[in-house]
Amino acid sequence: MLLPVVRIMLLSYVRFLEKELKNTKNFFNLVSSFCGIIGSMKILVIEDEEGLREALIKTLQDEGYLADGAEDGGIGMDLIETGLYDLVILDIMLPVMDGFEVLRHARSRGLAVPVILLTARTALQDKLNGMDLGADDYLTKPFAMQELLARIRMVLRRGTQETQDRKLRAADLVLDPETYELSREGNARTVRLPATEYQLLEYLMRHAGQILSKEQIIQRVWGFDSEAEYDNVVVYMSFIRRKMQYIRSEAVIRAVRGVGYVLEGKSGD
Ligand code: CA
Repeated sequence: MLLPVVRIMLLSYVRFLEKELKNTKNFFNLVSSFCGIIGSMKILVIEDEEGLREALIKTLQDEGYLADGAEDGGIGMDLIETGLYDLVILDIMLPVMDGFEVLRHARSRGLAVPVILLTARTALQDKLNGMDLGADDYLTKPFAMQELLARIRMVLRRGTQETQDRKLRAADLVLDPETYELSREGNARTVRLPATEYQLLEYLMRHAGQILSKEQIIQRVWGFDSEAEYDNVVVYMSFIRRKMQYIRSEAVIRAVRGVGYVLEGKSGD
């Protein structure tokens, strides 16, 4: 006689648990995607005025970004070429190479990193030059830090909206930054990546066709002070390759002996 009542109670409890679990999962996704977007972003500040450079780096670090500085255009260009940065804040009036030269040089070498120009001049021509050369945005000095942070968020968001659904695509791979799910374009089979594998593959996909050294990979995924050994990279690459096979991707992570790794489509595209 009691049984139906117990059964109903149990069922409603199970439904309650299911709902809670779903909320927890959504919350987890939210946190992990938030950390993925903000936590791993590296910003390079190329500014010769030391006080401003240090203030910018401090503000960015307080906001949870990783930030490095360069005091002239030459050093800045060398750092951009490492491919480690998600965004560059670039002053125009700089020693060695000015901001326009740095931007022109970077774009001519196929480096697509978003750039926000800082200009002390108010001349409209400066801004137009900068946009023609491939800057993503500009700010006129003096500016409020909050304004710069808003522009940074906007440019970074734009970068992740290469496709309408915010998924990252390279070769035939589709990576979802919200769920960490990897799939092959046009195929329903998905696999969920743990955080480290996600970061590693995201880095390879953002630089598809470009050889990334083991040092770059370690710095990017494990951080500058990491004790991570090269063996770690090898092991994680094998995990990712297995998952790429599982989703039947034709893309390959090719090891370049003594250098690093490159993500390529099957035909080498
Ligand atoms: Ca300057």
